[in-house]
Amino acid sequence: MSNERTFRILIIHLNEGRGEVVSFGECDRMGGGSGLAAALYDAYGLHHEKAHHPDQPLIFAIGPLTGYFPLMSKVVCGFKSPYHDQYAESHAGGRMALALRFAGFDAIVIRGRAAAPSCIVVGSHRLQVDDVHHLWGVNVFTTGKLLRKMYSGHSGHRSILRIGPAGENGIAFGSINVDTCRHFGRLGAGSVMGGKNLKAIVLQGDETIALPEGKTYAKLFRAIYEDVTSTPQMRKYHDLGTPENLLPLNERKSLPWRNLQQTSDPGIEGISGERFAEELLLRQTACAGCPVGCIHMGMLRERFGDEHEYQYRQVSYDYEPIFAMGSMLGVTRAGEVLALLDEVERVGMDVMSTGVSLAWATEALEKGIIGPDETLASLAFGKTAAYIEAIHHLGGACNDFYRLLGQGTLVAAKHYGGEDYACVLGQEMAGYATGEVFFVAQSLGFRHSHLDTGGYSYDLKHDDKDLEKAVRFLIEDERDRCLLNSMVSCLFARGVYKTELLAEALASIGYKKLAGDLEGLAARVQEARWQQRLKTGFDPSAIKIPKRFKEVVTSKGSIDAAYLNALREAYAKEIVALAGGVPTPAKADVS
Ligand code: SF4
Repeated sequence: MSNERTFRILIIHLNEGRGEVVSFGECDRMGGGSGLAAALYDAYGLHHEKAHHPDQPLIFAIGPLTGYFPLMSKVVCGFKSPYHDQYAESHAGGRMALALRFAGFDAIVIRGRAAAPSCIVVGSHRLQVDDVHHLWGVNVFTTGKLLRKMYSGHSGHRSILRIGPAGENGIAFGSINVDTCRHFGRLGAGSVMGGKNLKAIVLQGDETIALPEGKTYAKLFRAIYEDVTSTPQMRKYHDLGTPENLLPLNERKSLPWRNLQQTSDPGIEGISGERFAEELLLRQTACAGCPVGCIHMGMLRERFGDEHEYQYRQVSYDYEPIFAMGSMLGVTRAGEVLALLDEVERVGMDVMSTGVSLAWATEALEKGIIGPDETLASLAFGKTAAYIEAIHHLGGACNDFYRLLGQGTLVAAKHYGGEDYACVLGQEMAGYATGEVFFVAQSLGFRHSHLDTGGYSYDLKHDDKDLEKAVRFLIEDERDRCLLNSMVSCLFARGVYKTELLAEALASIGYKKLAGDLEGLAARVQEARWQQRLKTGFDPSAIKIPKRFKEVVTSKGSIDAAYLNALREAYAKEIVALAGGVPTPAKADVS
């Protein structure tokens, strides 16, 4: 994209097995990433058709700085989510962003449904849609191994995306595995691939890009590189990584335990970041283009064959996955958490939705709302073997109960009862029981993600209950992140890539006009994303926060239900205003 002012997009028509390259939009208006994905969905999306309509687009977009600066390593996936049937975004790292850049595209849009289970292969001068029916039903690990053999070559800038059985079976939180240890995890992009009969995507970044001549770019690159490799903030992500937060959040009574029945527990000693590092950490690795390396790989030791034979597997871990498979399920041994993470990976599901939905199922079983005929496995907090069994049942949608649970915890709770203790904030909660601002932020946030805004850290830093200030924070913090998400930077670098530095970086590679309009860009991207949500049926005023969240006690005390409700209402109004008007009721698209 670098020197053109339109985006270069590859549109793939899966049903016809062909593609076309189009010039699209204006780089100076939408930047890339989130802004580009929203603009593409507006142009190609079927706003009022179901998520699984074959012509719904599956979009992958990078940004103008991808390939030019460190930590510009993420890809934005835009799609209509099978979880809530509205427009959604999911972000992932790995090698995909650089592979797309070196293949010469700003985005790929996949439309239609293949006649047989397929793998798309994309290079700068290559597009194939191969029949891979022999991979259908095969788990994520074996699929990856076979794909690496089938499509060897360009391994440096090659990226491999694949889904597991969960995506094939329409689980609403089926994920896309990217290069083994990164994911488009939340809100079901993997099931969109499954609905398209698309098992895998292989991207071959087989071209080079010309770097700007002169000293300005090289000097700026060096300065940014120094910054991201020397600041303590970034070193923290490399050392213990995000699991460093487990102990302090447990201490602050903000770590959800056993379906959020507690917010702190002495069992934390067994699953702290320090425990993982001491007992299981093998190495750190990184997304392509990142010198930080925050991806922590743990060693899982498994017995097989006779009593004295073992195999070793590498499993990535982070704060949120440890919350989901550890504290939320009452599992207090680090090695067992790794074993659960490995199983979720194999089946191909979002780890947070999996953990939170199984935590609800455990409490529902304890309370007698469901029985063993439903759960099949003897679910009980802390019982790892039962959860391993349940993960397979869930990913395989093996009975009516798991089929419903696989559409989201609230869907199952509406059917069986137990909505009060379904830990759902727009989607299954992330691991932050910090207070009112986070609960509202995730419930109403654009991606229902802990990364939409820093709501959890706002809770930890503020004791006041200033409604106006909190809503202003949510709007402004989201807008700042929209800017980074349009570049598309890793959000861990948000302390480094301030607006002025982004402007300098853009100007150094030729985007002078965009560099002078970053506040305008952030506002346009924020508005465009919310417009897509509301056009696809999101009504923020209809979101409810389950009773369990109002029963939470943190180190600041009990949740203030009146403040929570007032905040929810005020933020909902601001979101509607941001999108430019009232949500439109869902109706059929008129062709
Ligand atoms: S800090 Fe971590 S997630 Fe971010 S780009 Fe680097 S390795 Fe990837």
